This record gives sequence, structure tokens and C-alpha cells, in this order.
Amino acid sequence: MDRGWGFLIGLLGAVWLLTSGHEEQQPPETAAQRCFCQVSGYLDDCTCDVETIDRFNNYRLFPRLQKLLESDYFRYYKVNLKRPCPFWNDISQCGRRDCAVKPCQSDEVPDGIKSASYKYSEEANNLIEECEQAERLGAVDESLSEETQKAVLQWTKHDDSSDNFCEADDIQSPDAEYVDLLLNPERYTGYKGPDAWKIWNVIYEENCFKPQAIKRPLNPLASGQGKSEENTFYSWLEGLCVEKRAFYRLISGLHASINVHLSARYLLQETWLEKKWGHNITEFQQRFDGILTEGEGPRRLKNLYFLYLIELRALSKVLPFFERPDFQLFTGNKIQDEENKMLLLEILHEIKSFPLHFDENSFFAGDKKEAHKLKEDFRLHFRNISRIMDCVGCFKCRLWGKLQTQGLGTALKILFSEKLIANMPESGPSYEFHLTRQEIVSLFNAFGRISTSVKELENFRNLLQSIH
Ligand code: FAD
Repeated sequence: MDRGWGFLIGLLGAVWLLTSGHEEQQPPETAAQRCFCQVSGYLDDCTCDVETIDRFNNYRLFPRLQKLLESDYFRYYKVNLKRPCPFWNDISQCGRRDCAVKPCQSDEVPDGIKSASYKYSEEANNLIEECEQAERLGAVDESLSEETQKAVLQWTKHDDSSDNFCEADDIQSPDAEYVDLLLNPERYTGYKGPDAWKIWNVIYEENCFKPQAIKRPLNPLASGQGKSEENTFYSWLEGLCVEKRAFYRLISGLHASINVHLSARYLLQETWLEKKWGHNITEFQQRFDGILTEGEGPRRLKNLYFLYLIELRALSKVLPFFERPDFQLFTGNKIQDEENKMLLLEILHEIKSFPLHFDENSFFAGDKKEAHKLKEDFRLHFRNISRIMDCVGCFKCRLWGKLQTQGLGTALKILFSEKLIANMPESGPSYEFHLTRQEIVSLFNAFGRISTSVKELENFRNLLQSIH
């Protein structure tokens, strides 16, 4: 740990020296530089740099990931958007049209997806095919072998266990519905102002391991803030252990990603015939320009890259689970399912080959008792955040907020299950480690969102350069 701190302090010092020296010699910055000049080089707490991520993501990963996410297995996500907010009652759903979510009609979702959540077991698939022929899908549960039943029971137990970072949506509830993610894209909805701030505020204020006395900088709900409080905030953040700092960065990265998306798919024009969506450079600058945000914007973009690295690492770790011969991306269309599995494995191998992965071994590496407590705190804070998503007063934002927190929660579950994954049998039911279809769909779609944000940063960089 001591060596780690020394290295970190040295790294931060070097970055400070480099950036401060740089500023003195340069002519006035362009709009592109004001958003991006500080978003380059090494990321805090990591050995990776932004440029390596950009190249890897934009040219090698992004196109293939988009193709995978368009497949039937990944485009349908079951979600309960009607769960009541457990924290307060006054949620205004004041009818913004762009907040509406159109659920699927039951005949739109492939039967293979609807009928069971453990479809990737070879045995279960065979049984289901037989059952489908006999037109009695309902018999699947009872006809599973003893071994598979045992595994399913174990998985259910595991899903409720202390390894889960998210409050699982009750997808068996009559209120839960399938949503086609391609038809309900994450984009500008007009959800803003005190309602949206309240959510972000609760997420940060109550869940980021922060002493009450320290307010976040530029927080629109906190009054009387000034520069000195900003400095207190950052000296507090820097004084935190790497895990607590990581937690804040993950949330801030998710927040930045959502705001990149709404700036990239902004409602530019509306006529009675059609709506035009596209990049809104001013919106992007207001959120991320170094001067307009008093240095905050570039920091937030760096947090987005940090989130990218964490999810990338989780995907590289979970490869053995997907490589098992009896794992299937089951939708009922055999040829398509096999092709999609090949594409999924290709993507995961590409991810594994990434040279500068985040070293999660530095997480919870201290004293065993303390590490255990910290991991538990981390998990509880994260579960709390997933419950806050039920308070988001815009259904479209709630859908994507839920999906992305579940995806990040799944990534954290993977990172903390390394030994269980390593000990998984190569075939047959896995008792210790399991991912539900919901977790798989949210994991890849959440990563798809962050990957798209990184790609969008390149688009904004080009757009900003072209206007100056
Ligand atoms: P906000 O983004 O609301 O931020 C509030 C304050 O937090 C800022 O003033 C700043 O001090 C601080 N802050 C901002 N960004 C960061 C960061 N990255 N890290 C740390 N601190 C930060 N709107 C849409 O149009 N489409 C969506 O799909 C959508 N999804 C949402 C999902 C959720 C869960 C929530 C809570 C909101 C969502 N919104 C969405 C709303 C959107 O995120 C903003 O809240 C809204 O556009 C208002 O923006 P703002 O500039 O007032 O600041």
C-alpha cells in the first residue's frame, strides 16, 4: 500500500508539473482544447492513458459491440418501471413526451427469451425445444434434471446473496415488461432542473463516503458555495483511500456518460412531421468546457474513462463463463444464436488482449478485516443507488439509469468473484458463479453506452475543431 501511495503521489506530481508548465507556453486555447487538453495522458489511479483507450475503443471494439447489441438477445430488456420510489412521494411525471417508454407487445419478443431465464444450459435448451414441439412450455421447470434444478436453486440463492451489488428488479412482477432498447434510445429527454438535481444530489451526498460537512463543487442545490469549498472537496477526495475515490469516480463517470449522450442526441429541431436529433455543441461545452465549468468538465470526462476501464476489466475477467460450451445466447434461433456467441467471444478475446488493464488487485488489498468492511460498504452504497433509480421522474431516464446501474453492479460482482470464476467447471452446471440473462444484457448494454460515449468524444472533438 505504501509503495502504491508513493507511486500515486509521484504520478500526480508529475501530471501537475507537466500540465502547469504546458499552460504557460501555449497560445490561447481553442474550444476543442478547452474541453480536451486536460483529458489526455495517464488517468489517476491507473497505468492507462486516454489515447490508448480511444484507439482501442473507437476502431477495434465499438463497431463489433454495436453489432452484438443489435441482436435479439441483447435488445430486449425486462424492467419494472412502476416500482414506487422508496425515499419520497412527490415524483412529478409531468408528461414529457420524450420521456415515454414504449414496452414491447408480447408477440414482439422471441419466445426463447420470454420463456425462461436459465436458457443457456444445454440441457434446459433441449428440454425447452421438446416442450415447444409439444406446445407445453409451462412444463419446463418440473422436467429439469435434478442436477439442473439444484443449480437453478443455487443461482436463485446466489442472486439474493451478499455478492450482489444491485437491488434486483422484480422481473416476475406483473408490472415488469420487455422493452426494445433499440426503439427507446438513450438521448435528450428534457428531464432537468430541481427534480433531476435532487436525484444526482442524493446519489452523491448519501452514497459517496463523504463527510456531511463537505459539499460538492458547483452543486446547484447547495447554497453559498465558493472556491474554498471546492478546494476542500478535492483535498478530501485526494486523501481518501483508492477504493472510496474509485466509488466517486464511477458515479461521476456514469453521470458524465449520460450527459455526453444527451448532448450527442439532442433534439435539434421539431416539426409536426418529424424530429431531428444530433450533436449540440453548446450543450456539450456547457457541461465539459474547462473554463465554463471551472475545471470540472475535463475531470468528469476522465472519470468516464475510469468507468470504461473498470467495466472493460470485468469483461476480460468473465470470459471463462461465456466460453463454456453449454453457454448459449438463447433466443430460439439456433443459427443466429451460434453466430452471436462467436461474435461475443471475439469481442471478449479482443478485450482480454487490451494491454493496459486496470489492476483491481489494488482494491481491498489492505488489512483483511478492513478490506471486508470496505467491500461491504461499497456494495451497500451501490445497492442504495440502484433503489434511487426508482425515484427518477422520467421513464426513459429511469430505464437507462436502471440498466446502467445494473450493468455496473454486475461488473463489480464479476471483479469481486475472480476466484469463483477461476474455479468454475468447464462444463455442466456452475454452482458458485452465475449470471442471469438480465445481468448479461445489462452488463453489455451498459458497457455499450460507455463505449459509445468514448466514441462520441471523438465526434465532439472533431466538431469543436471544425468551428475554430
Ligand atoms: P446535472 O447533470 O443535473 O448535474 C447536477 C450537478 O452535478 C451539476 O451542477 C454539477 O455540479 C454536478 N455534476 C454534473 N456532472 C457531473 C459529473 N459527471 N460528476 C460529478 N458531478 C457532476 N437527461 C436526458 O436528457 N436524457 C437522459 O437519458 C437522462 N438520464 C438521466 C438519468 C438519471 C439517473 C438522472 C438522475 C438524470 C438523467 N437525465 C437525463 C438528466 C441529466 O443528467 C441532467 O440532470 C439534466 O440535463 C440537467 O443538467 P444540469 O446541467 O442542470 O446538471
